[in-house]
Amino acid sequence: MTSLSQRIQQVPASPTIAITAKAKQMQNDGIDVVSFGAGEPDFDTPQFIKDAAVEALQNGDTKYTPKSAAALKKAIADKLAKDNGINIEPSQVLVTFGGKHALYAAFQAILDPGDKVLLPAPYWVSYTEQIKLAGGVPVILETTPQDNFKITPQQILDAAGDAKAIVINSPSNPSGVMYTPEELAALAEAVLKTDLLVLSDEIYEKLIYGDNKFVSFAALDPKLPERTLTFNGLAKTYSMTGWRLGWVAGPQDVISAIARLMSHETTNPVSFAQAGALAAYTDPQAAGVVETMRQEFEKRGKHMAARLRELPNVTCVQPMGAFYCFPDISAHFGRTLGGVEVTDSMSFAKAALDAAKVAIVPGVAFGEDRCIRLSFATSMEQIDKGIDRIAELLK
Ligand code: PMP
Ligand code: GLU
Repeated sequence: MTSLSQRIQQVPASPTIAITAKAKQMQNDGIDVVSFGAGEPDFDTPQFIKDAAVEALQNGDTKYTPKSAAALKKAIADKLAKDNGINIEPSQVLVTFGGKHALYAAFQAILDPGDKVLLPAPYWVSYTEQIKLAGGVPVILETTPQDNFKITPQQILDAAGDAKAIVINSPSNPSGVMYTPEELAALAEAVLKTDLLVLSDEIYEKLIYGDNKFVSFAALDPKLPERTLTFNGLAKTYSMTGWRLGWVAGPQDVISAIARLMSHETTNPVSFAQAGALAAYTDPQAAGVVETMRQEFEKRGKHMAARLRELPNVTCVQPMGAFYCFPDISAHFGRTLGGVEVTDSMSFAKAALDAAKVAIVPGVAFGEDRCIRLSFATSMEQIDKGIDRIAELLK
């Protein structure tokens, strides 16, 4: 047996990726599985974005690009000024292999061994592992379904101590909850009383429902841009998960440090993929296609949450953004469902997959064992079929 590093031995594979892959494999094997696993839009990438990438490829855009292409960095800086009220230079933007890579590289650039990072639960699965891979220590800020999974300013003040940073993800994967501008401003006020750096993961910025309003963390106070890293990407907004394009914007010293890391690690994101991203951020068609997808997600999310609430002893917070429902199913712990003794979210997910042929992600993967996550980035028909099956399982 090869002796692997201690660093990698403490990191399990991503459960969201694993469950999605397992559901796909079962489908390929001819099993009729409904997959609520993937946090991945089911739409194709808009045609004008594909065309721009194809054209770049045809025109010989096939070489290393200097870190990320200058025109794309400028387009992202312009987007941040226009949409988010964040005014920075293009040199303060770095394009990476997906939002996931931007976060990974940022933790590598800012953390020393033992550095603490405050992480509100429930949290996206990769934050904890990325923090650990950088030698850091995640410090979990607990929340409850009754409080809509929101942390309070006091929790930040109580936990800050000598911690290095805090991660804010609003709208949230997995809870689908987002802070109001006022709530976020109160968190910002608390942060400003500490020395915390803020990693604001805004990847679900354009998927907002109802009257909810998005604000960027860095825009909440003039003192925040110098200590906030803003993360975003093309995967969710433009249905470009496979293109692997994300970015980070923030203080020049941190961005330059991440760029140094990237110069040894990945050099630059794919040249012609960056041309597609440039079209996404500059073509006037973009707003319309994004809005069409958003409206569809909104319909599905409303429908899925309503159907989940009709299930016996299940509560579900209304998704405000992103594309996840995160119902509390803990009232069913202690029951035997489909032949599986259900004692926690993991065994519930096992019963759902084995007996009902529905793939969901157990909440324990996100640090919240009372809940399960269902992605509604799938058709209405699949949503009804899957929830019918879960209803049958719970009978
Ligand atoms: N942050 C959050 C909260 C996410 O849900 C995802 C989805 N995988 C990402 C970052 C990264 O997305 P990607 O790497 O596909 O850009
Ligand atoms: N973010 C999505 C999810 O949580 C995609 C998978 C991943 O990267 O974790 O399902």
